[in-house]
Amino acid sequence: MPVAFRIRCCLCDKNIPLAGDAVVLDAEWQRRFPDMNGTIACETCTIRKGWNCCIGRQGAFVDGHIAAPEGIVDVDCWSHILDRGTHRAAVLCHPRSGLIQGAEPYLRSVAAGRGTHPDVAAELHAVLQEWDAQVPVPGPDRLRASRSHSLNARR
Ligand SMILES: [Zn+2]
Ligand SMILES: [Zn+2]
Repeated sequence: MPVAFRIRCCLCDKNIPLAGDAVVLDAEWQRRFPDMNGTIACETCTIRKGWNCCIGRQGAFVDGHIAAPEGIVDVDCWSHILDRGTHRAAVLCHPRSGLIQGAEPYLRSVAAGRGTHPDVAAELHAVLQEWDAQVPVPGPDRLRASRSHSLNARR
């Protein structure tokens, strides 16, 4: 039995409905919504928060615009959707976001599973190793504490 999991939407922080697709957003979404937690969103957010046009009044891309992936016609928010599909595929194809957004138990079980393709397992192991090396993620308070600590040490 695969491990059950829910993905918290990177934009609204609610669980992405199991009946709906998981939508994977690109760097331009991250630029426009710097508080995004990961890159996998619910459909509702992509409709509510999406934008109509990447081009400003001058006929050029708006300031700071991050181009859509090569080969995609860069028009609006829809050009900046990398993927959409099942929750499992979303977290397997984008495991770093998956870990941040609640799929850690599932990703660990796939990485350890016998039926997993060796390439997929190898990538997951690499990402999980990186993740384990980071945890606990320093919060702003801890960051500040360690910074002032090192300042004191220098004196
Ligand atoms: Zn959402
Ligand atoms: Zn664009």
